[in-house]
Amino acid sequence: MDFDVIIIGSGPGGYVTAIRASQLGLKTAIVERAELGGICLNWGCIPTKALLKSGEVYEQLSHLGDYGLSVSGAAFDFAKIIERSRGVAATMNKGVAFLMKKHKIEVIAGEARLEKGSPAPKVVVALTAGGARTVTAKHVILATGARAREIPTVGLTSDGDRVWTYRDALAPKAQPKTLIVIGSGAIGIEFASFYRALGSEVTVIEAVDRILPVEDEEVSKAAKRAFEKRGIKFRVGAKVTKLSKSKSGVSVALEVGGKAETLEAEVAIVAVGITGNVENLGLEALGAKVDRGHMVTDSHSQTNVPGLYAIGDVAGPPWLAHKASHEGVHCIEHIAGLKPANLTAPIPGCTYANPQVASIGLTEAAAKAAGHEVRAGRFPFKVNGKAVAAGETEGFVKTVFDGKTGALLGTHMIGHEVTEMIQGFGVAITLEATEEDLMATVYAHPTMSEAMHEAVLDAYGKVLHL
Ligand SMILES: Cc1cc2nc3c(=O)[nH]c(=O)nc-3n(C[C@H](O)[C@H](O)[C@H](O)COP(=O)(O)OP(=O)(O)OC[C@H]3O[C@@H](n4cnc5c(N)ncnc54)[C@H](O)[C@@H]3O)c2cc1C
Repeated sequence: MDFDVIIIGSGPGGYVTAIRASQLGLKTAIVERAELGGICLNWGCIPTKALLKSGEVYEQLSHLGDYGLSVSGAAFDFAKIIERSRGVAATMNKGVAFLMKKHKIEVIAGEARLEKGSPAPKVVVALTAGGARTVTAKHVILATGARAREIPTVGLTSDGDRVWTYRDALAPKAQPKTLIVIGSGAIGIEFASFYRALGSEVTVIEAVDRILPVEDEEVSKAAKRAFEKRGIKFRVGAKVTKLSKSKSGVSVALEVGGKAETLEAEVAIVAVGITGNVENLGLEALGAKVDRGHMVTDSHSQTNVPGLYAIGDVAGPPWLAHKASHEGVHCIEHIAGLKPANLTAPIPGCTYANPQVASIGLTEAAAKAAGHEVRAGRFPFKVNGKAVAAGETEGFVKTVFDGKTGALLGTHMIGHEVTEMIQGFGVAITLEATEEDLMATVYAHPTMSEAMHEAVLDAYGKVLHL
């Protein structure tokens, strides 16, 4: 065997697993056909946050009067905003290269496919530099990620010109004056928020009856109101029947409540979901099980093929970087014979728009559907001292408890920097904190996090500042 473990794909699933493998003393190689760091660092999590920061700062300039400040000649250079975002991605990419070197992980640049082998499939790499190399290991981990889902039957296929996926939207030649975003999940909403902050006319189309459909209904409603206040338009319960291209832009035919409607814009972003990168890997010949574009795995990320594991986006939802890393560390610790904590820890989900949305655990509706007797609490930021002082009073915190046991089932937030606050409840849920533990916790004052405490107290009729 050339290695103990070969990992295919260097996103937050693959590269983090490689580091942990090396820490565990395993001889490790990672194969990558594009940039080290995967979608997350190069075309996803990180460059979008760089764009959103530019948008947020620019938007704040128009509210400087609220703070007794003024500035003249506020302006932006779109090309420089994109350049900064690409620079941030490049920095992160270099960081992964450094980490691979530091941990003595062999990086093989090229596209991998699998062939039958024992105790694990052989990895045949079409090298980026030309030629091929076959490498073997005791264990092979697929971390090949996912890509934007397209729906060619109704024209939802990117052309990089008028119809964009997230890749095009991250590095466009020019800012569109008018933009249609198809899909109101986190990715669609983040792009809508960024482009709107810079003044584009943005309409978001969503097939179901509310935006951010995985979030708690109260959060979805508040988010729609907050984004509409900033000028984003929404068409919910709207099914795209045809997207057609024209020289000047796109035309999107919709069906809303049984009625036909057409929207026009310079550009459309297709953000209708994700599909796993399972093609051209030789999986059919191995008899590997794939279900709706994703690898089928067990509770240790093992596939039905001996020696072959799959983690991260290619192993299915939630399609999140931290889920990919968490799964990868669990998988490699299991391979190394450790007894890693189980994979059932709840995964937080965040949308970094303005305002931000963050949640973990069950929504109120999901908790009720699962048979819990629900006790919910809420606390608005408009009566939180730090939020008032900072001029960030939009939004609220909601808690969902099991009324019988006092277990915290889920929490849901919308507001300024709630994506930082959610970790507090993540720790609480993972440690199975009860209402008593959470009520007895002392929160620093003044902080926006005090709203978390109050939302716990509210669920038990003990709220202090309402
Ligand atoms: C616009 C956008 C914003 C996002 N924002 C967030 C966010 O804020 N927070 C969050 O948690 N998640 C976010 N995500 C999702 C996040 O990027 C993914 O969940 C994460 O990247 C998955 O990690 P991964 O390691 O499974 O795969 P990836 O990061 O997709 O990495 C897979 C790697 O495998 C390589 N590869 C594929 N096939 C082969 C092959 N045959 N041979 C060699 N190499 C191969 C690819 O080139 C790629 O580099 C965002 C995604 C997008 C698109």
